[in-house]
Amino acid sequence: MDQGKNIKVGIVRDDRYMLHRPGLVHPERPDRLKAIYKMLDKDFASTVTNIQPELATLEQIELVHTPTYVRKVLRTADRDFTNLAPDTPVCSKSYIAALLAVGGCIKGLQAMLSGRCDVCFALVRPPGHHAQRDRGEGFCIFNNLGVTARFSNERYGFSRILIVDWDIHHGNGIQNLFYGEKDVFYVSTHYRGWYPHTGDWGETGTGEGLGYTVNLPLPKNIQDNDLLYLYSQVLGLVMKNYRPELILVAAGFDGHCDDPMGRTHLTEMAYKGLTELMLDLQEAGGNLPVLLALEGGYHLPSLVSSVRTVINVLSGKRSNHRATFPPTELGAELLEKAYQIHRGYHVWTD
Ligand SMILES: [Zn+2]
Repeated sequence: MDQGKNIKVGIVRDDRYMLHRPGLVHPERPDRLKAIYKMLDKDFASTVTNIQPELATLEQIELVHTPTYVRKVLRTADRDFTNLAPDTPVCSKSYIAALLAVGGCIKGLQAMLSGRCDVCFALVRPPGHHAQRDRGEGFCIFNNLGVTARFSNERYGFSRILIVDWDIHHGNGIQNLFYGEKDVFYVSTHYRGWYPHTGDWGETGTGEGLGYTVNLPLPKNIQDNDLLYLYSQVLGLVMKNYRPELILVAAGFDGHCDDPMGRTHLTEMAYKGLTELMLDLQEAGGNLPVLLALEGGYHLPSLVSSVRTVINVLSGKRSNHRATFPPTELGAELLEKAYQIHRGYHVWTD
């Protein structure tokens, strides 16, 4: 280990992400990123590498989305407002932000591969993890990380891609895209029984992908330490037995206790620990690229504070981040349940 080596943190940001205006009362509003960017300018102006996103090409978007759906999104430019789904209204310029959200994640990946940064946080909107092949839903237009995963496979030949989804909602879009594949290993924690009502324990993949989807539905009383123990154990084994070449993180912060969508007991400490864990995994994998992309998070103060916590950990000295995640009763119970369900697939379990 390089003692004291600073990690070069890339941040994808662009004011054009504010062009997506889903309506005055919509929770996924431009103010989310405005508040985060303001914090970045104040706290991290000289310590991070800003990465300018580019619009994703239609060819890239169509790696996972149907041409019919892509055309439908592009046609929303003709009208002031269109409902892509009842909860996913868009304005005439939303398609620009949506293309830029995917393009920002791709640019972030490329910035790591070219050595401009060691780790990257794409602070983009709209979010992506609910977006399906042929439709938008859950505030998501295009599946930002889904396209990035497929692109990394087709363009750079990554064949073992780990997607970690710590948003409080199940990333049904990502799961569905890769449910029958083993090139992408999807791990999600989310509240049990909440929107989008998928992600139960038994959803483990199909065909070749059987065992490559790990759903960890969380009970209401989950605490920071339970979550961290569960993640550290599962991902430790995934690192050892799946050996990912790339880690993508669907980084939603609506699990924070102050967030109106989550109403959990989780705090910034959970995101601190999760980020430390991602750095541990990065190192364990021989400095593999780790790209985080913003998903949910709707309570501005806790969103800003959680993102600040993540970037603080990312930009800390490498030798200081070693974290420990002691077992908890609930964490051990959830781990055992996951193990029982997945043991027979011999994919990530010992
Ligand atoms: Zn969410």
